[in-house]
Amino acid sequence: MATVEAIKLHKRYHDFVALDDVTLRAESGQLVTLLGPSGCGKSTTLRCLAGFLDPEGGDITLDGESILKLPSNRRGFGVVFQNYALFPHMTVAENIGYGLRLQKCPKPDMARRVGEAVDLVRLNGLEDRLPRQISGGQQQRVALARALVMKPRLLLLDEPLANLDARLRDEVRWLIRDLQQQSGITAFYVTHDQSEAMAMSDMVAVMKAGRVAQFATPREIYQKPVERYVADFTGEANFLACQSVAEQGSGQYRIEAGGTVLTVAGVQGLNGRAELLVRPETLRLAAPDEAADFNGRIVKCAFVGASQLCEIALPDGGTLKLTAAPNTPVHVGDAAAVVMDRAQAWLMPEVAP
Ligand code: ATP
Repeated sequence: MATVEAIKLHKRYHDFVALDDVTLRAESGQLVTLLGPSGCGKSTTLRCLAGFLDPEGGDITLDGESILKLPSNRRGFGVVFQNYALFPHMTVAENIGYGLRLQKCPKPDMARRVGEAVDLVRLNGLEDRLPRQISGGQQQRVALARALVMKPRLLLLDEPLANLDARLRDEVRWLIRDLQQQSGITAFYVTHDQSEAMAMSDMVAVMKAGRVAQFATPREIYQKPVERYVADFTGEANFLACQSVAEQGSGQYRIEAGGTVLTVAGVQGLNGRAELLVRPETLRLAAPDEAADFNGRIVKCAFVGASQLCEIALPDGGTLKLTAAPNTPVHVGDAAAVVMDRAQAWLMPEVAP
């Protein structure tokens, strides 16, 4: 069990600032995800944690002790990459046992631990195959077993599902989360896939151009983002301009949006311009005699199995994305009266589009 902290990390590549004051903390047994678009510094952060890169500023601690001076091979961390990095001429069992062999682990002990790791990632029967004789999902499970068999103090995973197709991604995602939780191992996980981050993590760090835009639970990141960038990156969103905003204390605001005056919760201390985040699933079509928050016309409709995604044009030129139940009759061109779940709306600072 290990608590790991990155404190005010700075990292440059020549003149380019890749990490600027990155602070993160994984409590013992937590899985912390670094989420963000390509180039925002996720892999650089992970490589600093692993000891493959030296930050110019800041510190990395393990249970409160700095490990910055410790070389990567003495940190006792397991690393799993997107490209598996298996030895092509070694069998599955040999790949998994490689680290133990380097440590001169006695043969019977090694056989037992490799067997346990094979069981853990469900690769039984494939022990004698070469990497090219198994699927991508199975190769990634070998890479995972190879890291876990060493009983690392920290597991670092860099886009481990990126090369897998959608169905396999789901399967390996649950496997990683199950194994991480069962073993109680602390982990950092890099992805640019928001649904993966939401589903797997205890905490998510949304990264933006070398900085942490928000570090919070998946629920808070999704429902209470600190800015539009975070809201946009974590799912479908509507942003409504607010005409007037008055704080009523403790993060509650009286606002006017879309012609309606209402009280909503929001980011603390907003003063001046703000916009309202309304997730599509918090909007619904009004019942026939129900008062609507917005009136518009359906301009797009897509059936996506579990729901229908509709776009509604408002008289002021704006649009609203709304999620309807799969069997609700919705047609392009129909008038739409829309009700908003006010308790789920969230006020954020306004930024330029
Ligand atoms: P991706 O999802 O594409 O892997 P990332 O968020 O992991 O992106 P990093 O790989 O950490 O991003 O890179 C952060 C920034 O630093 C990028 O702009 C990248 O071009 C730059 N960078 C990374 N490695 C180097 C390097 N060795 N030399 C110069 N610049 C680099």
